[in-house]
Amino acid sequence: MKHQEIDTFSEVLAADVKEAVRAGSASGVSKRREILAADFPDANAIRELAGQIKQHTLEHLDTYLEQAEQKMRANGIQVHFAWDGNSAKEQILEIIQQRKARTICKSKSMASEEIELNDFLTEKGYDMVETDLGEFILQLDEDHPSHVVKPIIHKNRRQIAKTFEKHGLGEYNDEPEVITQRARKHLRQKYLQGEVTMTGGNFISAESGRMVIVTNEGNSRFGLAGAKCHIALIGIEKLVPTDRDLGVMLNLLGRSATGQQLTVYTEFISGPRSESQPEGPEEMHVILFNNNRTEVLASDCREILRCIRCGACMNVCPVYRQSSGHAYRSVYPGPLGAVLSPLLAGKAGYPELADLPKASSLCGACQEVCPVNIPIPDLLLRLRNKAKTEHADKAAIGTPDMTLWSELATHPKVWRTAMKSANLLNGLPYDMMPIAPLRAWTRQRTLPKWQGGKFRNWMKEHQKERNHER
Ligand code: SF4
Repeated sequence: MKHQEIDTFSEVLAADVKEAVRAGSASGVSKRREILAADFPDANAIRELAGQIKQHTLEHLDTYLEQAEQKMRANGIQVHFAWDGNSAKEQILEIIQQRKARTICKSKSMASEEIELNDFLTEKGYDMVETDLGEFILQLDEDHPSHVVKPIIHKNRRQIAKTFEKHGLGEYNDEPEVITQRARKHLRQKYLQGEVTMTGGNFISAESGRMVIVTNEGNSRFGLAGAKCHIALIGIEKLVPTDRDLGVMLNLLGRSATGQQLTVYTEFISGPRSESQPEGPEEMHVILFNNNRTEVLASDCREILRCIRCGACMNVCPVYRQSSGHAYRSVYPGPLGAVLSPLLAGKAGYPELADLPKASSLCGACQEVCPVNIPIPDLLLRLRNKAKTEHADKAAIGTPDMTLWSELATHPKVWRTAMKSANLLNGLPYDMMPIAPLRAWTRQRTLPKWQGGKFRNWMKEHQKERNHER
């Protein structure tokens, strides 16, 4: 992807991409609002409870990790720990080699995007098959997700129909039903060949070692039905203490992500196939990976690890809706990505992403919709401070030069003259604005009519009245 700073990304975005992102995110916002209002007398109370559960888990993560590991092992799951992306990839490769598999069916997983697993295994000669429809389309297009729940939010059905035609999946037809049927026909053959199935995981209960995977297409279930071996790649922050907590999270995840009471397929997986079960993997591996999460946990932005990847903050964010997910130059877009991506990048990768926390108007909408009540605006401010201290060059991106303002504000006579003459701005065409940043700003926005200079007169009158009263 061509590098483009986030504050100018939307300028080069095609109109149909902008429209697709705007429509996709707007529908997410209204569906979420309606269903939460209809189902809960006080949705904020359950958001706060979910936030407390996740925060408690993070504060005792060592204990819960140990407990979850013991339970999973007792359930017959082989548990692995990976310090970083490379270690996770090597461990996955070793399992696949032992199984002598060639085709790996994969359901949607942001964790695997984070460590670029597909590229790694494809280079080693494996047939990686994305089975989520959106991810399948991205794979055909050699593209990347731009939203954590709706990976192809930036595409419309005409583009998808062209992609299918180009890859021999039928003549051009942009009917969603036809597109879905063609993908289904193609993928069902692949499920039969898939010796190994890879998934992410939405939650693990430390109490029972039970893992939860949610999908709306049933693709992970298909993959697991045919496979001999299941590998789940999961970040260490995905734990909750008890099975009961899963109920709180699932009640919020579907509603916040897609406006559904529950995702269509909600699978609780306790381990590999037992003798009484007719199908399912005989071997199951869970890879718990860190990839800088413990550094995030030690930082003053640890609350971001509560995230349950619902995407609601993206849908509601005015910056995301204008710029699209690819503007964030990282796997996690939107307000979530503006905080998490620079942190996960570690010391070496951080400077490259240090400008991301500036991609926010700090309107607070992201926190209002977040099902685990993450104080995203506060975290963005903390990261802006960090960028300013450690990488002043990056922190400056998108920040107007305040020298002129400081001159005006510290010289009363100049200030008074400026206030009087600023009325002239009202009659000026935008491309003749005297200050370059103002010209650039007005290229995409309407400058409100100048009404300044009246406060001093009001203050003088006010003081006169008060003196008179005394
Ligand atoms: S930060 Fe909150 S709103 Fe955004 S994806 Fe995560 S859980 Fe959802």
